[in-house]
Amino acid sequence: MAKTDLSKDVAGILASLGVPTACLSGGTLKARSPIDGSVIGMLKTISPIETTVAIDKAHAAFLEWRLVPAPKRGELIRLLGEELRTHKDALGRLVSIEAGKITSEGLGEVQEMIDICDFAVGLSRQLYGLTIATERSEHRMMETWHPLGVTGIISAFNFPVAVWCWNAALAIVCGNSTVWKPSEKTPMTAIATQAIFDKALKRYNEAGGAAPANLSTLLIGDRAIGEVLVDHPKVPLVSATGSTAMGRAVGPRLAGRFARAILELGGNNAAIVAPTADLDLTLRGVAFAAMGTAGQRCTSLRRLFVHDSVYDALVPRLIKAYGSVTVGNPLETGTLVGPLIDKGAFDGMQKALAAAKAAGGTVHGGARMNESDGGDAYYVRPAIVEMPSQSGPVKEETFAPILYVIRYSDFNDALALNNDVPQGLSSSIFTNDLREAEAFVSDRGSDCGIANVNIGPSGAEIGGAFGGEKETGGGRESGSDAWKAYMRRATNTVNFGRSLPLAQGVKFDV
Ligand code: NAD
Repeated sequence: MAKTDLSKDVAGILASLGVPTACLSGGTLKARSPIDGSVIGMLKTISPIETTVAIDKAHAAFLEWRLVPAPKRGELIRLLGEELRTHKDALGRLVSIEAGKITSEGLGEVQEMIDICDFAVGLSRQLYGLTIATERSEHRMMETWHPLGVTGIISAFNFPVAVWCWNAALAIVCGNSTVWKPSEKTPMTAIATQAIFDKALKRYNEAGGAAPANLSTLLIGDRAIGEVLVDHPKVPLVSATGSTAMGRAVGPRLAGRFARAILELGGNNAAIVAPTADLDLTLRGVAFAAMGTAGQRCTSLRRLFVHDSVYDALVPRLIKAYGSVTVGNPLETGTLVGPLIDKGAFDGMQKALAAAKAAGGTVHGGARMNESDGGDAYYVRPAIVEMPSQSGPVKEETFAPILYVIRYSDFNDALALNNDVPQGLSSSIFTNDLREAEAFVSDRGSDCGIANVNIGPSGAEIGGAFGGEKETGGGRESGSDAWKAYMRRATNTVNFGRSLPLAQGVKFDV
C-alpha cells in the first residue's frame, strides 16, 4: 500500500480546526492509522480523578443549561450543523485516516452528524407531552418532559464521530450536558469533533446565547475512564456503543445504581434471498452490506440464507464479486474495501475462518493481501463461506468481512434461522412475494430492531429509531421518539376546583 505521511495530514486537519499542535504529542495514548499502521499522535489521557472532577463540572453545566428554553437550545445544535457542513471534508478525511473508511463513507459519517443536527433542531420545538383525560372534575392531568442530567456517551471505533452526534444532538436539545468517552482506537476524530463543537458554542454565545462551559466534555482514555463515567452518581444516563462484552460489563453496573442505559451492542445480521428476489439488486445490496466498511459495521451483513432455486444463479456471482472487489488505501479513488482496524481484528477473522472450515464450511477469500509489507496494516480479501448449517462461528459476531452463506428450501425455516442467534440488531429479505415480505416485518417475522425489505441490513437513516434486541442491548438512538430516553417524564395533575375528589372514589374526610 502506498506510503504517505499521515501524521502531517492529521496535524494539518487539526490545525485547520484550531486544535493546538501540542495536543498531538507528549502523551501515552498511541493514535494510529489502520491505513499503514503508522502512529499519528501520542495523546495525553485523563486520570480517573480528573474524570470525576470533569463530570462534576458537567453537572454544574447541566444545572444552567436546563433553564434555557428548548428552541434556544436547538439554536446551538443548528450552529453545530453549520460548523459540521463547513468542516465536513476535513472531519471526513480524518475518519478515513483513523478508522480506515473509504472516502465516501468517511464523508457519509459526517453527513449523518449533519442530518441528526437538523433532526434535533426541529425536535427542540417538539418535545411534546400529552394532556390526558382525568376522572376528577375541575382537574387537569398532563405529562411534561424535563432535562435529565449529565448524559454519558461511550462510543466504538467503527463510527467514531456519528455515534457521539446521535446522542449529543438529542441530549443537548433535551437540556442535558454530555460527557463523551470515545474509543481509544479513534481519539483524534473525537478531538476534532470537540473542536468543531467548541466553534459552534463560541458563535452561540457571541450571538447572545447562554451556553455554559463544560456543556460538552471529552474524556480521552481507555475503558477504566469509561468505568468512572458508568459509576458516577451524577450521570443518570449512559449511552454505550460497543461489543456485547462491554455491554455485559456496563449494563449491570448502571442497573446497580438505577441509572438508565442505552446499550447499542453487537449484531449478527442476516438476509434471506427468496425465489422471487431481483438478483441484480440483491447482488448489489449484499455486496455493500457485507463488504462495505470492511465488514466493520454493527449492521454488516454476516449471514445469508439463499433459497435452493436461486442459489446457483446468485452465489457464484457473489463469489466472483468478492474476488474482484477493490481492496486498498481508503483514501484512493476506486477503493471499496479499506483495512481492518488492527491486528486483533485480523486474528479474530482468521480464527473464525478456521472454525468455519472445521464446521464443514468452504472458504473463498479471507487472506491478508499485504503480508509482504511487514507493516502493522491489515488488508484482507473479504471472505465468503458456504456453510452446511448455522453452526460453529456463524452464531457469533466476528467484526470483519466474513459472509456465511447457507441454503434453505422453506421460508419458515429461513425465518427461524434469521432469529436463531443471540443478537438482534438488523435483518432483511430480498423478495417480490408480498406475503413473504409482510410476514418478515410482522409479529411472527424478524425479531430484530431493524427489518428491511429489498435493501440490505446496513446503512440506516437517522429518521428512524436505531438499535436492536437481545444481546444487542435493547437501546434506541437517533430518530423517531428516541429522544424520550434523554428526558425525565413527569405526570402532573392540577386541581383548579375548590373540592378534593380522590381517584377511584376513595373517601378520606378528616
Ligand atoms: P469495544 O466494546 O471494544 O469498545 C467500545 C467502547 O467501550 C470503547 O470506548 C471502550 O473503551 C469502552 N469500554 C470497553 N469496556 C468498557 C467497560 N467495562 N466500561 C466502560 N467502557 C468500556 O467495541 P469496539 O471494538 O470499539 O467496537 C466494535 C463493536 O461495537 C462491535 O461489536 C459492534 O457491533 C459494536 N457496535 C455496535 C453499534 C450499535 O449501534 N449497535 C454501533 C457500532 C458498533
